[in-house]
Amino acid sequence: MIALISDIHASMAALEAVLKDIESVGGVSRIFCLGDVIGYGPQPVECFELTAQVCSRILMGNHEHAVIYGAFGFTPIARQAIDWTRDTVQGYAKTRDGKDLWDLLKRLPVKHEFDDVLLVHGSPRDPVMEYVLESDLWEGSSDPNKIVEIFEGFDRMCFVGHTHRPGVFTEDHCFLPASELVDGFDCSEGKYLVNVGSVGQPRDRDPRSCYTLFSGDAVYFRRVEYDIEKTSSLILENPHLGDRLATRLHKGE
Ligand code: ZN
Repeated sequence: MIALISDIHASMAALEAVLKDIESVGGVSRIFCLGDVIGYGPQPVECFELTAQVCSRILMGNHEHAVIYGAFGFTPIARQAIDWTRDTVQGYAKTRDGKDLWDLLKRLPVKHEFDDVLLVHGSPRDPVMEYVLESDLWEGSSDPNKIVEIFEGFDRMCFVGHTHRPGVFTEDHCFLPASELVDGFDCSEGKYLVNVGSVGQPRDRDPRSCYTLFSGDAVYFRRVEYDIEKTSSLILENPHLGDRLATRLHKGE
């Protein structure tokens, strides 16, 4: 069994709760992280170090990209959080203990492949930035070929994060939200793109942490309660992180 975690967004309470849940499930041989370990949240260094310790691979998310190259196209509240995250990570990297952190961040790969499985943060055709959304399936979408091209970009299974909305996209252009797949999803036949959800900032109106288990034949979405108050009060105490980043955690939006 493989565990796929994504979009931790610097929330240690959420990350620790998810790692505890992975431990309790048992039989998980590897954990992959699909990016956005940092950004928005109050504990970027702690989360990055713990993720690096427990994961076989961490991929580059758009928030890691923004910390390194600049927060182009980000909202003002997200940009402010990125600027603080950059200062915090760089400040820590200058100390003796943290000297490899910045280097590690810069060298994160944008994708990882094994067997017929592709892992990216965004999408197969734009691994760091592109969102794959339910609205891409709707009639009258501005890019009608988008979902076709995305499915051409991988062999059998593709796991993504980025939207913070867990569920399964099918080859015949359906989206099955995780909330409707509580007993898991059989993926032994066919081709699927799976959004693994967000550990630290879910946006599907379920504030619990989300991550995904993959057995090779089936996908299981796990929801985990965590101490939201702990992360949200650290955000509220931090003058560089907007209050909205705390209140949204309670609503899962
Ligand atoms: Zn994210």
